[in-house]
Amino acid sequence: MPVETRPGETPLGSGAAPRVEFLSVSKSYGTGIPAVDGLDLTVSPGETLVLLGTSGSGKTTALKMVNRLVEPTSGAVRVAGRSVLEWDPVLLRRSIGYVIQEIGLLPHLTVFANVCLVPRLLGWNEQARRQRAETVLRLVGLDGLDLERRYPDQLSGGQRQRAGLARALAADPPLLLMDEPFGALDPVLRVTIQDEFLAISRRLGKTILFVTHDVTEAFLLGDRIGVMHAGRLVRLGTPAEILDSPGESLVERFLGRHRRFLADLLAERKEKEKQWTS
Ligand code: ADP
Ligand code: MG
Repeated sequence: MPVETRPGETPLGSGAAPRVEFLSVSKSYGTGIPAVDGLDLTVSPGETLVLLGTSGSGKTTALKMVNRLVEPTSGAVRVAGRSVLEWDPVLLRRSIGYVIQEIGLLPHLTVFANVCLVPRLLGWNEQARRQRAETVLRLVGLDGLDLERRYPDQLSGGQRQRAGLARALAADPPLLLMDEPFGALDPVLRVTIQDEFLAISRRLGKTILFVTHDVTEAFLLGDRIGVMHAGRLVRLGTPAEILDSPGESLVERFLGRHRRFLADLLAERKEKEKQWTS
């Protein structure tokens, strides 16, 4: 039986951004070394937390345990105070916006229909779906492109990525999971989208868990950054805290010769955020 939801509502509830908790979470794929090893981490309601680490450090595995694409070997992941294992996995996923590098738009649906998909699955009526799709497409800068007729392969890479973000936002989920969403874009486009995403995320007040291997991106977008290495969380703090005292030599190496640049970036970001909130 489908759960009744009204426009603007997901099974996770409307409005209030949830807390996400990792409680001593480990995941082993049976290969000896665990992919995630004893992760303790709380993402606060409305916060953007960036997991930063090199390839293979366990970021994607950690993220997928939130929407239950992967189940922990031990420990628990809680969303809004409730273990994700207690959720119906399908409803849980429809309540969480998920953006990945490969985007995952369905090729046989128009871009507009792709954006309307989750609201449709949640039983929103046609008018509510249409209104919402128009709103989120405007939000990501994709309005006026005749997307009711165009298919995903008729968009540029940057436009497709925006469409993927619009789709993730369509049901207005209070929680977003983003796995290297801008990684495939060329550097100029990436900077534009990162800037816009920072502005959007500030306006929306959602809880966002964002995964990247890009130090600059982490410093640009994160309220806090968690540095992962070999499945472990080795440092957690605000960008400024991490820049001031990296702690681990590994994090020090990560920042390396970019320190000066990152300090400038943070100063610039502060200015921008001041404008958005004034
Ligand atoms: P990241 O996203 O930081 O690159 P992943 O979470 O994808 O890291 O991977 C962490 C470790 O788990 C890697 O060593 C990877 O090879 C391994 N791994 C990931 N997914 C699987 C899987 N489905 N089966 C076996 N090993 C996996
Ligand atoms: Mg990954």
